[in-house]
Amino acid sequence: MATQMDLAGKPKRDDWHTYFMKIATQVGSRSTCDRKHVGAVIVRDKTILSTGYNGSVRGLPHCDESGHDMEDGHCVRTVHAEANAIVQAAKNGVAIDSAEIYITASPCWNCFKLIANAGIKTIYFGEFYRDERIYKTAAAAGIKLVDMSRQKES
Ligand SMILES: [Zn+2]
Ligand SMILES: [Zn+2]
Repeated sequence: MATQMDLAGKPKRDDWHTYFMKIATQVGSRSTCDRKHVGAVIVRDKTILSTGYNGSVRGLPHCDESGHDMEDGHCVRTVHAEANAIVQAAKNGVAIDSAEIYITASPCWNCFKLIANAGIKTIYFGEFYRDERIYKTAAAAGIKLVDMSRQKES
């Protein structure tokens, strides 16, 4: 991404949403499954609480070493980015209740349920991924879903 300049020729500062989504993208670059790189950042009060990317079970081979573990057209070798961000918080004793999460792709159904039960209230995602159920359930569960790909300036 090229640095944009403001009218005075100074580099334009990113707004907070762009800033956290760029960090999520950077985190996702560490993903060990090249079928899809996903990154997640959990934030409260403009402070990063936890991050995660999709990767193998700790200590086990990665997809690029052992190949993908395919099931119904999806690789199931990895723990997903959002789940890893929640797990990292739990592992380190970081409270994430009422936090927000930035994910480069919308959560799958299982990760959505984890996010909901972790008490996260807003989900920002960079692109829609695959499960429409999240829309209906988010509304019922009082969770805000924000598709950042639809908010880009043209
Ligand atoms: Zn894989
Ligand atoms: Zn998932």
